[in-house]
Amino acid sequence: RLPVLTGGVNFSFNPARSIYFVLDNSARKALEQRKDDFINMASHELRMPLTSVKMQTQLVRRRLARQGLHEAAADLLRVEEPVKQLERLTAELLDVSKIQAGKLEYVQEQVDLDALLREIADTMQQINPSHAIVVRGAVQASLLGDRDRLGQVFTNLISNAIKYSPHAATVEIDLSASPETATIRVRDYGLGIPRELRDKIFERFYRVAGLKQKAIPGLGIGLYIVAEIVKRHGGTIMVDSAVGKGSTFTVTFPLTRDILV
Ligand code: ADP
Repeated sequence: RLPVLTGGVNFSFNPARSIYFVLDNSARKALEQRKDDFINMASHELRMPLTSVKMQTQLVRRRLARQGLHEAAADLLRVEEPVKQLERLTAELLDVSKIQAGKLEYVQEQVDLDALLREIADTMQQINPSHAIVVRGAVQASLLGDRDRLGQVFTNLISNAIKYSPHAATVEIDLSASPETATIRVRDYGLGIPRELRDKIFERFYRVAGLKQKAIPGLGIGLYIVAEIVKRHGGTIMVDSAVGKGSTFTVTFPLTRDILV
């Protein structure tokens, strides 16, 4: 006989459902733990540049009293770097809360991907003389999108490639295009990412927990923002990686859209 359901709610035991509940609960706990770790890291990360700004300005004050304005000026300029770092961090934190609230705004303009990539690679090369940043493939690929946000995607991927290859010196960037799509690859020869974590790294606050990774500062929000920006441009992002050998991040954008998603 078929069971007869009375009312709208079925209280019968459903093993699949119970298992789902248990998983859901532990996933929530993991996210809570990640948030705690994040707040801990964020306070440290914000504090380091702040301390350095504070020490530097105290130095300027003392030098100003002893030697005058001219000598103090050079010291004063050294606050630029930690201030930039603070600016980046706070901007990223703000991006995360805007994404959460569905309020990240985009401007639409025609963006030349090749020029943008080269410009960013040049800047990153100047800041990171220890790595060789190689850009390959000069192709015409232009799309409708937000130039600054797309720049943020490339900056983030290249800066991760550098950051997570403490002992490898080359980062390769490759742009290719068909009439329909543009593909950007950022390859490094660094730490790599375990296979089972390849989707996780795009989640908010997620950081790979290895000893080597722990020594590298970060908040686990960069790739979350990157994935969101790529998605809004109708694109996809994926990673191919081998632990100890390196990683390749591949971003693909459609070139035939006429609006942002
Ligand atoms: P962050 O670098 O600030 O921790 P991200 O969101 O940019 O945050 O990256 C999330 C995690 O993914 C990193 O903590 C790191 O473990 C891993 N990861 C990202 N890029 C790379 C890379 N190029 N090589 C190895 N691991 C990476």
